[in-house]
Amino acid sequence: MDLLSVRNPATGELLKELPLTPTAELRSLFERASEVQKRWAAVPLKDRVARLYSLRETLINHVDDLSELISNENGKPRFEAMVNEIFAAIELCTYFAKNGEALLADSPIPMGLMKHRASYLNYWPLGVIAVITPWNYPFLLPMGELVMGVLAGNAIIFKPSEITPLIGLRLQEIFEEAGFPKGLINTVVGDGATGAAIIDQRPAKIFFTGSVATGKKIMRAASEHLIPVNLELGGKDPMIVLDDADLDFATSAALWGGFSNSGQICASVERILVHESVATEFKRRLKEKIATLRQGVSRTGNNDLGAITFEKQKDIYASQIRQAKERGAEFVTGGEFSADRRFLQPTVVTGEDIESLDIYNEETFGPVVALTTFRTIDEAVEKANRSKYGLLASVITRDISKGEEIAKRIEAGTITINEVVYTAGLPETPWGGVKETGFGRKHSARGLYEFVNTRHIHKPVAGVFVFKSLWWFPYTPFQHATFRKFIEFYRNSWFAKLRALPGWVSNLIRFITREPRI
Ligand code: NAD
Repeated sequence: MDLLSVRNPATGELLKELPLTPTAELRSLFERASEVQKRWAAVPLKDRVARLYSLRETLINHVDDLSELISNENGKPRFEAMVNEIFAAIELCTYFAKNGEALLADSPIPMGLMKHRASYLNYWPLGVIAVITPWNYPFLLPMGELVMGVLAGNAIIFKPSEITPLIGLRLQEIFEEAGFPKGLINTVVGDGATGAAIIDQRPAKIFFTGSVATGKKIMRAASEHLIPVNLELGGKDPMIVLDDADLDFATSAALWGGFSNSGQICASVERILVHESVATEFKRRLKEKIATLRQGVSRTGNNDLGAITFEKQKDIYASQIRQAKERGAEFVTGGEFSADRRFLQPTVVTGEDIESLDIYNEETFGPVVALTTFRTIDEAVEKANRSKYGLLASVITRDISKGEEIAKRIEAGTITINEVVYTAGLPETPWGGVKETGFGRKHSARGLYEFVNTRHIHKPVAGVFVFKSLWWFPYTPFQHATFRKFIEFYRNSWFAKLRALPGWVSNLIRFITREPRI
């Protein structure tokens, strides 16, 4: 049987050798999951919600062993494992446990013309879905899909990254310990080939988080079977620092936004756009703060930055840094690997040509930030939007209204004002991007609805006499005349007349009646 060696990226220590899930077993795994899913979907929603409360308790009870496992397998500091992964996962369970019943209850649609009829939406599970995730947030990222997926009544075939399978297996155990039925969450151990084989089994939907290149492959494969996909892909997120910003605050935001999780975050600050009048002071302060960061092995608990998790990612850093050096970029700080190549110094790069370099344009996904300047807000917005990605952007300013004006011009799924990165940890807010960052949303009501089919049910209003509709066969002169009258009514309505009045009169009436502008 093929084995997968799982190592601690900070020390190289072998943590475990795991057997890969044979692809020949996937068919029976799907069949069993389908059986379990049917029984699970019949469990009343309030009981499914109750299990989320037990899941929350289970997470609280296991916070220490989970932090240790995440830290060992991923290389991040224990603090980050506890706060950014487990604490956020507890919050996720709390939100969906509190709101799940209301969000999945039948939802009425107010009727326009057809007042004698009523419509509502009714939600039902998708079936057996696939969740395929990366290694950077190996606990919190799948947790979002697993929690929303089972709440909505689905069973899940879950493939964690081949870099962090122990956390993936532990997630399944945690759900089972919390009282979810065996076979509802099924962790599959394997690499990209296993992921591709999962898609061949035709899951009801694929929830994928990972790189753009893999996202494209997955969408291509899914299209063969017309399987819907949610894609949460890469980012090259800008942080705009206006000239009125408090530079102590702005540099601290850049520090955490650029270097937490060693910058291995889809939404980390990878491009800083700083107003030219404050750029020199900004760089000086940022450099000073970077010098205080402690990089090291997580077990001691005395570090801010952990190891680089994924060997192949180091080649991307090395190539971007090499190009920047060859093209004469200015390294404000960093740019070197440790002797054992397990750590990369937190790096800030700038210079006249910076905007033409890969380090500024391509996703780095590591502790590397590229810095450029702008003169006007228009220029800042144009530069922020000049990217193939659109996940998150941030604006740092003392003027919140100005921040909001800028936010509304930025092409991204989330824009934070005077905050960075963290809203993927807020379960009540939607997460997802535009452009090559992908599509679909996770978390919040919008995210939950990605995990259900929606039925529209249309019925007579209770007590209303049921009559044949006026547009049914046969088409009589009476029907013609009636619909003509309707259309004439629209032509002569106060609404239509209002539009014909002189500008200021109609504006005044619109203002008083709050009629929308059309
Ligand atoms: P990756 O695309 O290499 O792998 C992601 C997952 O896909 C892994 O489990 C992998 O085994 C699997 N996979 C690979 N090939 C496959 C195939 N052909 N079919 C099915 N599955 C396949 O990405 P990665 O290196 O693990 O993660 C880094 C990327 O993830 C970055 O680009 C980052 O921006 C992105 N990411 C995005 C978000 C977001 O919310 N938008 C969050 C975290 C990470």
